[in-house]
Amino acid sequence: MKAKKSKNEEAKTSDRDPRRSGARYCSSWCGAGCTWREYRAAQEAAKSITERLGPGWTPTVEEKFGWHASAVLKTDRGRISVTGCGWDGFNALVSQDPNSSGGRWMASGDTPREAVQGAMKLLGDELSALMSCFHSLASADPGKAS
Ligand SMILES: [Zn+2]
Repeated sequence: MKAKKSKNEEAKTSDRDPRRSGARYCSSWCGAGCTWREYRAAQEAAKSITERLGPGWTPTVEEKFGWHASAVLKTDRGRISVTGCGWDGFNALVSQDPNSSGGRWMASGDTPREAVQGAMKLLGDELSALMSCFHSLASADPGKAS
């Protein structure tokens, strides 16, 4: 009879858990040969972006064929992630799903805050357009739209 593993034991054996071997720090799921040095650089980059955004943001490092740094702000209704984009600028990605690493509204900026403002403006613009559409249709057909 097989012994049932606890949740912690299952997490330890996950193929998504990176393993350190010499200079390498990579999971079997990834297999891209990520290094410990890249991981540490991503941790520092995540911390740096987070510090520039201020309270409420969390430094996050994810392995996806390389180590990627971001600062994340999450609520029960949405998520914003900010990454450096390699040419000294930043990308912000806004999602209405707090558990998604993707997003629907994206903007770039010279600073993390500028990127966030750009992405939030796109969300606000879309919301305004939807509200205008709703009010326009509701007022044209008040009996059916309300
Ligand atoms: Zn890897």
